[in-house]
Amino acid sequence: MHMKLGLIGFPIKHSLSPWIHNQFLEKSGMKGTYSIMEISPDNTFEQELERIKESGLDGFNVTVPYKKQIINYLDDLDKNAEIIGAVNTVVCKNGKWIGYNTDGIGYVIALRKNFPEIFHDKKNRILIFGAGGAAYGIYYGLKSEGFTQIDIANRTHSSAKAIAILGDNNVETSILSLDEAQESINSYNLIIQTTSVGMKPNTEDTIIPIKSLNQKSVVSDIIYQPLNTRFLMDAKKTGASIHYGHTMLLYQAQYAFELWTNKKIPIDNMDQQLKTILEGR
Ligand code: NAP
Repeated sequence: MHMKLGLIGFPIKHSLSPWIHNQFLEKSGMKGTYSIMEISPDNTFEQELERIKESGLDGFNVTVPYKKQIINYLDDLDKNAEIIGAVNTVVCKNGKWIGYNTDGIGYVIALRKNFPEIFHDKKNRILIFGAGGAAYGIYYGLKSEGFTQIDIANRTHSSAKAIAILGDNNVETSILSLDEAQESINSYNLIIQTTSVGMKPNTEDTIIPIKSLNQKSVVSDIIYQPLNTRFLMDAKKTGASIHYGHTMLLYQAQYAFELWTNKKIPIDNMDQQLKTILEGR
């Protein structure tokens, strides 16, 4: 069987997804291709999708800026993706396109692999910086794991409030301004940076300067370019443990590949290999 896979988004020429999925194809023993299908915002999205449909793909990933827009062109939507309101993986089966979201689940699996102890106490206090597409998936993933205190700090209050609506009676969520989050950051066990602040080329930027932290806390940044964001480096200086963004990239891809092929490929040393690639960029 020859799997025809790919990625849509813009700009995606430097995406690491082809490297990851080609490794998965090789490890699975399946033949296949994973193509970059860049769709410029100047082109008509619908026409481009028609062309992709005709090419007979088995599945594809969706990245910025099309994770919401793609929903209008799907035949079916997985429940999690519907709740999160964004799709990053499409399975093409019998001429139908079915949308999934593997970002939040990918984050949760990556966190569990690296810091299993966090999952031993669901009362651990969690703070998420950001309220964009990635934050939705992560909030929902952590809530589904049974964590009971997940606060959100974002520049725009209304976006954070919209995420908190995903919560229920089992989870308490306070919406904080960035200043309030900076003041109370010592009280959290897990801090997750999901904004785009600090991404290449603006590597000196940080969502908030970190001066002191609870030394037992774990600090994640889902940005992976650069791997060592200023946010993570500041956190490391205080003695906190840090969790890198490339692990989420690997595990969301692992789950996408499983949706396409029914095969779960072990990550093994891909974590270290991807880290080395990113450090060289
Ligand atoms: P998004 O939907 O565009 O959300 C962006 C978030 O960043 C919003 O909360 C936004 O706040 C905040 N933000 C942007 N510029 C800001 C600024 N100057 N000051 C304060 N806040 C600012 O993006 P996304 O899809 O969630 O992605 C966010 C980041 O996660 C990106 O860097 C992306 O590369 C990374 N990501 C990583 C993975 C992975 O696998 N590791 C997966 C997905 C995404 P407002 O609401 O106030 O605008």
